[in-house]
Amino acid sequence: MVTFPILAFLLLAAHFSRINYNGLAIACLLIPFLLFHRKRWTVLVSGTLLVMGSLVWAATGYRLALTRIQYGLPYHRLLAIMGAVMLFTLFSAWVLLRRKSRERYPGDPASAGISTWVFFLTALALSMIQLKVPLNMLLFNRFLPGFGWLEILLLSVYGAIVAARIHDYKTQAKWRIRVWHLFTIVFFTQLILGLFGFDSFLMTGNLHLPVPALIAAGPIYRGHDFFMVFLFLGTIILVGPAWCSQLCYIGAWDDAASRSKKAPGYYRNDRVRMMITVLVIAVAILLRLFGVGWFPATILAAIFGLAGVGVMLIFSRKKGTMVHCTAYCPIGLFSNVLGKLNPFRIRIDTGGCTSCMACAQVCRYSALTLEDIQAGKPSLTCTLCGDCITDCPQNTIHYHFPCLSAETARKLFIVLVVTLHAIFLGVARI
Ligand code: SF4
Ligand code: SF4
Repeated sequence: MVTFPILAFLLLAAHFSRINYNGLAIACLLIPFLLFHRKRWTVLVSGTLLVMGSLVWAATGYRLALTRIQYGLPYHRLLAIMGAVMLFTLFSAWVLLRRKSRERYPGDPASAGISTWVFFLTALALSMIQLKVPLNMLLFNRFLPGFGWLEILLLSVYGAIVAARIHDYKTQAKWRIRVWHLFTIVFFTQLILGLFGFDSFLMTGNLHLPVPALIAAGPIYRGHDFFMVFLFLGTIILVGPAWCSQLCYIGAWDDAASRSKKAPGYYRNDRVRMMITVLVIAVAILLRLFGVGWFPATILAAIFGLAGVGVMLIFSRKKGTMVHCTAYCPIGLFSNVLGKLNPFRIRIDTGGCTSCMACAQVCRYSALTLEDIQAGKPSLTCTLCGDCITDCPQNTIHYHFPCLSAETARKLFIVLVVTLHAIFLGVARI
C-alpha cells in the first residue's frame, strides 16, 4: 500500500532538490516515514500532501510548457510526461486516502481529524512566516539556509501528535503540562544560549527581559515595538485566556511551583492584582514622561520579575495554587478580562453536578468555589486549561462555544491552542 506513495514522495524530493529547495527535498524524503507511525492522521496528512504535490507537478508542467512555447520549442511530450507524473501522484494520494487504507490505520476518526487540522494549520502559519517575514524566524534557516521547511515539517508533526494526546481525555491534563513546560525549557534555553554569545538563538540580537508584565509596560515606555501586544491580543482572540495555561513562558514556572503541593489550595486576590496592574502601567507612563533611560527602567523591570519569582517560590508553593498568575501578574489580569471577548467558555451542567468538588481539587487557578460550581461556570481566573473537565466523575463540565456542541467546541479549542503552541515553539524567542 505504501509503495506508490513512497515513490511519489521520492519524485517530489528529486524535483525540489533539482530546483535547490533542499529543505523541502529532505522533508519529502522524511514524510513517508510518517506512515510507519500507524495512526490514522498519518495517512490523512500524507495523502493530502500528495494531492498538494500533484498541484506542484501541474504548476511546474504549465510553467515549463509556457517557457518552451515562448522559445518556439515542442512541448507536447513534456506535457505528457508531467501529466503522467501528476496523475501518478494523485493516484498515490488516492491509495492512501481511500477508506480501505484509512481502516488499516487505527485511531478514532475525530482525533485523526484534529491532528490533521493541527498539522496543516501549523504548516500553513509557519510557511507564511518562512515566505513573508524578512527576518529568519525559523531556527533551522539560521544554521542551514532553506532548511526552515524541514523545521516546519517537524513542528507540524509534533503538533499533530500533541493534539492527539490532548484530545484523549486520559492524557489531556498530563500532556498540557508536559508540552507547556517543554515550551518554557526551549524558550529559556535559547535565551541562555543567546546570553552566552550564540546570538542566532535570539530573535534580533536585542535582549529584552522575559517578564510578562513588559508585554504591556514595554511598549508604553518605549512608544514603539507593539509586536508582543499584537501577538498576545491575537491569542486572546483565538483562545481567550488560554495564554495563561498553555502559552506563557513564565506561567509554566508558576505551575511547577504550585505543584509542590499535590492538591491545590485556594487563593484569589483580584484587588491586589488590579492595584499591581495600575501601578505597573503608571510607572511605565511616568518613566516615559520623565525620559528615564533604559538602564534604570530595566532594573525596575528586573526587580518586578524577580519579585514575581519570589511570589512563586513562597506563596504558590505554600498554597499549591498559581498565586503569581492569579494575584500578581498584570498580563494574567488582562488575559482573564480581555479573554471574555472570546466566545470559548467552561460550563458546568448543574443538573448533573453532585457538588463533589473533584473539579476544584485540580483547579490551580482558584476558579472553582462551591458558588461558582452551583452557578454553572468558573470565575474570572479560569484559563480554560481543561483539567477540571477530565476530573469530573459526572462528566458535567465541558467547553462551550456558541452554536457548537460541547464535543465540537472542545475539538475546535484543541486545534487552535495546539496549533498556537507548535507555532510558538518554532518562533518564540527573545
Ligand atoms: S498570569 Fe502572567 S505569568 Fe502567569 S501565565 Fe499569565 S501572563 Fe504568564
Ligand atoms: S475552572 Fe477548570 S478549566 Fe478553568 S482554570 Fe480551573 S481547572 Fe482549568
